[in-house]
Amino acid sequence: MTPAENVKSLQPSDAGGVGDISDNQQKWVELNANITTCRLCPRLVAYREEIARVKKRAFRDWEYWGKPVPGFGDPHARLLVVGLAPGAHGSNRTGRMFTGDSSGDFLYAALHRVGMANQPTTVHRDDGLRLRDVFITAICRCVPPDNKPTPEEIRACQPFLEAEMDLLSGFKGIVALGSLAFQQVLAIYRNHGRPVGRLDFAHNAYYDLGDGLPWLLASYHPSRQNTQTGRLTPTMFDAIWQRAKILLDGQWDPGTSNRG
Ligand code: SF4
Repeated sequence: MTPAENVKSLQPSDAGGVGDISDNQQKWVELNANITTCRLCPRLVAYREEIARVKKRAFRDWEYWGKPVPGFGDPHARLLVVGLAPGAHGSNRTGRMFTGDSSGDFLYAALHRVGMANQPTTVHRDDGLRLRDVFITAICRCVPPDNKPTPEEIRACQPFLEAEMDLLSGFKGIVALGSLAFQQVLAIYRNHGRPVGRLDFAHNAYYDLGDGLPWLLASYHPSRQNTQTGRLTPTMFDAIWQRAKILLDGQWDPGTSNRG
């Protein structure tokens, strides 16, 4: 099977497929195998492998992952977290979402503070990190130059996110990290015929997407650029996860929220 056929075979069969397929371990295994062997985007394949070959001086003893990165977390999660793409020397090195760089340090510390992760730090993909009720993924599985995947590359990778959404049959809400992830989540639902209008990205903006869809909460991405400039502080980030927890537990008053 070619990479293109791999991707096609993972597409949900219809609009109603998002979120209504039961969790199945074998399907996860097959999906992750398809993700990690994908070579559909020549520019990104070349870049991820070049990064893995050249390495960063601080990690010269590492054997870099250098492949697409699958989603990570609780397969029964009620919360789906969608990021942008692997970091060059983070998850492109370690092979696990948000693991091994400052973005991951910021994210997992926050998830630990709110009780969604069993430890505040991450080093490598076998470090014992466990997530509770959370599954973390991204709109692009290969590290892009300058952290900027092209629209074509994002579209090529979309079936992997759709397949994860299918397998996560019980998720109730989505936290989108950054505007590109936010818009791509909306695009997926629109592509499946759901009447999702034009929505604006803003930190801590909450949208009820209606039509039986999960709610959507927007957050600034925990990139070094955002966290080191103070655009995203730990307090601002904690507010996202605390709000998500309240939303999941049904204690949020929708009257105080934005409407999609
Ligand atoms: S970005 Fe996605 S579609 Fe493109 S090569 Fe990587 S895994 Fe495949």
